[in-house]
Amino acid sequence: MRIRPNSVLQNTIIHEIVHALRWHDEDRTDPVTASCGNSNDPDDRNLEEAATVAEVVIRLNPYVRVEYAGYYTKSEAAETTDDAYEMMDEDRELFVGNSTEGAPGLKGKDALRSLSKNFDKSNIGELKDKTEKTAKEHGKELRKRGRDK
Ligand SMILES: [Zn+2]
Repeated sequence: MRIRPNSVLQNTIIHEIVHALRWHDEDRTDPVTASCGNSNDPDDRNLEEAATVAEVVIRLNPYVRVEYAGYYTKSEAAETTDDAYEMMDEDRELFVGNSTEGAPGLKGKDALRSLSKNFDKSNIGELKDKTEKTAKEHGKELRKRGRDK
């Protein structure tokens, strides 16, 4: 099977691979970079989706304006698909320092370090998919809870 570059299918596959990476990598300790596992808590699911989308944006190598903006279009700030793409570009700039087509992404520890450090400033961190809290608010609470243990 040949996967057309930048196809919806390809982007969905990349997204699912990042979910799996988060799930299997036990070295991830930050609630933003680690999988929420089997949790059905809507706040956990919302954070998992937002952080997964962020990690895809970070890892895209080369960078392409993916034709399916996914969860960005669910964000309250994105009224149109163009808005969603713009927010994705802004996040790429924040996390990686580039948003031109073809520019290299980050991998490994660099990718995770950037995700942890910048998630609270990102557009996708504002995601509220069936939740009252934003993904970044939930991430902050989980981090605080971890420290209080
Ligand atoms: Zn997902």
